Parts: sequence; C-alpha cells; structure tokens
Amino acid sequence: MYPWLNGTFRQLAQRAQRNSLHHALLVQGPSGIGKTFFCDALTKSLLCKKQENEPCGTCQSCQLFNAQSHPDLHRIASDKQLGVDLVREAIQKLTSTAHLSGNKVLIIERADSMTESAANALLKTLEEPTGDTYLFLISAHPERLLPTIISRCEKVNISAPSFDECKQWLSSQNIAGVTDDIIRIYGHCPLTIISQLENQQSTNYADFCHSMEEMKRGKMSALVLAEKWQKESDQIVLWLQYELRQIAAANIHNSLFWQIENKLKLATVSLQNPGVNRILVLTGLLLDYQKL
Ligand SMILES: [Zn+2]
Repeated sequence: MYPWLNGTFRQLAQRAQRNSLHHALLVQGPSGIGKTFFCDALTKSLLCKKQENEPCGTCQSCQLFNAQSHPDLHRIASDKQLGVDLVREAIQKLTSTAHLSGNKVLIIERADSMTESAANALLKTLEEPTGDTYLFLISAHPERLLPTIISRCEKVNISAPSFDECKQWLSSQNIAGVTDDIIRIYGHCPLTIISQLENQQSTNYADFCHSMEEMKRGKMSALVLAEKWQKESDQIVLWLQYELRQIAAANIHNSLFWQIENKLKLATVSLQNPGVNRILVLTGLLLDYQKL
C-alpha cells in the first residue's frame, strides 16, 4: 500500500475483517493519489477466503483477483459519461448469488460522471443492498454527485501526501526528472507526477520554462508557442497558473496578475469545449505573460 494511504487502509481493512464495514463507501480525493488502488486492495481483502489481516494471495479467490477475472468483482470504468445501462447491468450482476459464495463488490470509478438516470438507478441498491455486497464509489469531484447518492455512502477522504512525503516517495521509486516545481504544480499527487514525467511525447516543464523565457526576451513569438502547445493546452494552462503564482508571490500589487488569473480560469473552462480554437486561447494568454 502507498505510505500516504496506509493509515486509512488499515482502519478499513480491520473493519472489513470484523464485518463492520459500511456497504457503500465514497472514496474521495484528488486524482493521482491511488484511490483505485486503495479500493482494489480493500476488495481483495473482502474477497479473500481466508479472512485474515492481509489477503493470503494463494486462495482461489486471491488467484482469480490477481488474474483480474474474479466473478464477484464488478467494475464500471470509462473515460466517458457513465450511462444508465452500464449501471443497470452491473447491479444485475451484483444481485445474483456470489459465484464463490463470499462477498460481492462493485467498484465505480469516476462515479461523478454518472448521468442522473444512472445515479438514480444506483440509489435503490445503495438503500437496500443485497447481503454481503459492497459498493465503492471513487471520485475526484464528489461535489458533482447527487446529494442523495452522497448521503447514502460513508465518506472516505483520501488526501495527497505532504510535499516532503511525496518527494521522498518519488525518490525511493527512482523516478527521474522530479523537481520541487513539478511536485508543487501537481499538488503532491505522486501518480499524476509519474504519469506526467513518463509521458515523453509532451513538452516537459523545463522546456516550457525555457520557451517562456525566450518569448519574454522576444526571441520566440506567442503564436509559434501556441501552435506548438495547442494539443497539450490543459497542461500548459496548469503551468501558466503555477508561473503566475510564482510571479505574484514576488510582486503581489501587480494588477495585471488578477486579470490574467481570471483569464486562466476562463481558459480552463473554454478549453474543455472540443470546438474551441486552442491556438487563439493560448496566444491570448501568452501575450499577457509578455507584459508581466
Ligand atoms: Zn486469499
């Protein structure tokens, strides 16, 4: 288990062992800290036939779990919106008798992306669960969930590790390219940091800083950079926000700072629209940075 999840995990695993775990957990916290891994580990404990402190790893249930083919573990995971059919199908499976005559688990990743009808379809199961059934809802944006869903779950809050803990863990994993800036930009979320650093195709943060310097010195145009960065505009806006905070910390009275901060917030929203002209949005932002 990741060290920053260990305390919470131990508590819940012990309750699972004592049969006092709530049947519906809402596991909430920022992306990239291991919420899914956490739920998977708890599920493995719940499904293990030996019901000891730790999953034994050798029983039939543990072996099926390791092979990702446990018949009593159901999972809803998609990058898209979670529609009612997906939820109904999963509930249907959940209401049948357990194949291994033990617990049954349904994990819903990105639960906040359920449509309203999908959420309503889930409500009844949350209210009147069948025996030995557990539902784990995972969410980085629980505020988007229906209040009726939230009120029927026990909330498990998972936080990112502290800066120092994150830095220490990344170094213990021999992850190359970690800097203090990177850790701060991604809110100490270790798994997000790893995936950013491993994504070689995109611009890395050092290149971004270098290009920004070049632009400020007039050696590179905002338009050229915007064209180059358009496909990774979300990440660029995140870095621009970080850069702005750095500048603001040194020069809090610069009124331009607040204007740009507002524009960045608007850009974050408008860039979610697939039809938006990314080059135009980025060029507008970069031209403002030239004035700082
Ligand atoms: Zn086992």
